[in-house]
Amino acid sequence: MEPKLANGLALGKLSGNDAGVTRLTPEQFAIVVREVELMLGEGERDETWRVLKMFADGRFNHSLEDFPPALQSEFRSLGPLRKKDYSSLAATIRDLRKDVFDVQGIGRLNFEGREYELLKTASRPALSPYAVQVPICLVAGVHGDEPDGILASLELARRFAQSPQLVSNYSLTIYPCVNPVGYEHMTRENGGGKDLNREFFRNSTEEEVVVMERELRAHEFVGFISGHSDYESFGLYAYATGAILSERLAKPALFQASSVIPINTDAIIDGHAAQNGIINQKFPGSLGPLSKGASEPFDITVETPNLFALSKRVEAQAIAFETILHEYRAVAAEAVNL
Ligand SMILES: [Zn+2]
Repeated sequence: MEPKLANGLALGKLSGNDAGVTRLTPEQFAIVVREVELMLGEGERDETWRVLKMFADGRFNHSLEDFPPALQSEFRSLGPLRKKDYSSLAATIRDLRKDVFDVQGIGRLNFEGREYELLKTASRPALSPYAVQVPICLVAGVHGDEPDGILASLELARRFAQSPQLVSNYSLTIYPCVNPVGYEHMTRENGGGKDLNREFFRNSTEEEVVVMERELRAHEFVGFISGHSDYESFGLYAYATGAILSERLAKPALFQASSVIPINTDAIIDGHAAQNGIINQKFPGSLGPLSKGASEPFDITVETPNLFALSKRVEAQAIAFETILHEYRAVAAEAVNL
């Protein structure tokens, strides 16, 4: 047994992204069992099913049969296929406080005879003409099997609305679910089978990409935050690219969020060199800010481990998002001199 590290740093390593089967140690698998039981106890049936399905599909060195019999029979009772409902998510998005947020449709998708409206929610401008509000963008749900970011972006919106300090200092635009068809089917890819996070800024004709690129061209965001989830990581980590202050924001974000989920301190995460849970590279084609104008936007992607209970992942990401906003005010003043 390795020694326990301070501040909830993650122990052990999982296989890299290229491995066909992700290896979990017996200790890690025991944690997964506990997390899945917690999630089921919290009524997260879809997400319980989705995580167990990954084991049933042979993605790990443990199989469905390694779980306690009660979880196995629960999984079977949940059926061979499940689907979520985007329209109820859209209703939740439209339910955000209307005095703070304005929800708008930004495009439509058609899939299997159904229409999906892509939504954004933007905080309303300050009433005072003297207010200076920093434009920040938050994107989630690019991968349909990662509900963490979607729910965390809505949780951030609720916390934002309750913070006069955040409301007065930021113009916050949230794209809570970029891939609605993937969300419904709980797949990484969109309805056309594409991993959208490899399609950006490459002349893609995928409608989700066309819509988001149009949005990014129309706005000048100073900061770009996104939420993702990784089933091959056993701890939190972040991609911090773009402006030099990205890392300065990502570090306190991970630190605060590690009160909920440990940080992944592996030297290699997702095929990239990492230090203290921070990666300074990105996959080509991933969604990020458009550099334009004089200043380069900060660009932070928060990744939560997909095998933890959804409630913890959402809380960790919401803490990370909120920390980035609070820290930016302090760091930006200093960054002028960097
Ligand atoms: Zn993702």
